[in-house]
Amino acid sequence: RAKRHPDRSYEFYAAEQGQDMRRRIRQEQALHDAIDAGLFIPHFQPQVSLADGSLVGLEALARCLDGNPTPLSPAEFIPLAEETGLIVPLGQLILERVLTCIGEWTRAGLRVPPVAVNFSARQFRQGDFESGLRETLSRSGVDPSTLVVELTESSLLQDFSKAEKTMRSLAELGVRFAIDDFGTGFSSLSYLARLPFHTLKIDRSFISAIEQDVRQRAITEALILMSRGLDLRVVAEGVETEDQARRLMGMGCHSAQGFFYARPMPAEEVEDWLRNGSQKRVSA
Ligand code: C2E
Ligand code: MG
Ligand code: MG
Ligand code: MG
Repeated sequence: RAKRHPDRSYEFYAAEQGQDMRRRIRQEQALHDAIDAGLFIPHFQPQVSLADGSLVGLEALARCLDGNPTPLSPAEFIPLAEETGLIVPLGQLILERVLTCIGEWTRAGLRVPPVAVNFSARQFRQGDFESGLRETLSRSGVDPSTLVVELTESSLLQDFSKAEKTMRSLAELGVRFAIDDFGTGFSSLSYLARLPFHTLKIDRSFISAIEQDVRQRAITEALILMSRGLDLRVVAEGVETEDQARRLMGMGCHSAQGFFYARPMPAEEVEDWLRNGSQKRVSA
């Protein structure tokens, strides 16, 4: 068959590729328009003290606003935004909305714990990242020490000394830094000692394995010990069961984030958390 129609499968392939390409351009355009129209908002996921259930932090996660025509879940629009560079305006939109929420909660007399915002490597490496963040913060009137900048290991790969300079300068302003998805990237442990991180987030892949896999458990335990030695706060990501929470507490982990405590929720639902924290307690 290939001999009789030498070009046929190629044509078919090219047509399919063209279709993929057009679909992608449409998706990118839709994402671009949705960002321009402000159709993304932060939801917030609580970070809870394992010992007493108190709220120790919140993480902001981007979500489509109802009526957003991009029918995409974060698992789809975040990678698309990363690949197209649209993560920069999307990240800025989310940051500004997070700061607005913090301002509103504060004015309502609520005590607001540190709120983490995810920054992609692309955002962090922008030449005007530091000045832009300073300006956004000062325009918002929010205390910079309420903001936690979540970075992944990939943000630190390219230009370490520039990353260090940016982080130190913002840390002086009060901004805190968390290293996200720790253990999944190309980590060099030495940077942890050299950069002003405040929090280490152990990736969900370790947490979901601690019940069955002794080796993953050993790594988790070592990460917790190392963090304590480096005076880093530890957050276990993706805690889904009470058993995981109990084990983590037994290993000396301070805090956890995951569906066991709460799913990411819209800003209106956060107020109750700010007042009451979690009723869930575990004992080791
Ligand atoms: P991440 O920063 O590591 O966020 C944690 C992800 O795990 C979130 O997924 C959250 O909903 C999910 N998660 C939390 N607890 C559990 C659990 O117990 N079980 C399971 N299975 N999942 C849990 P989400 O919201 O889909 O976000 C995925 C990733 O997209 C984030 O990973 C982050 O890297 C990125 N992202 C989200 N919002 C933003 C943003 O505003 N800016 C940037 N640059 N990236 C963002
Ligand atoms: Mg994160
Ligand atoms: Mg993470
Ligand atoms: Mg992630």
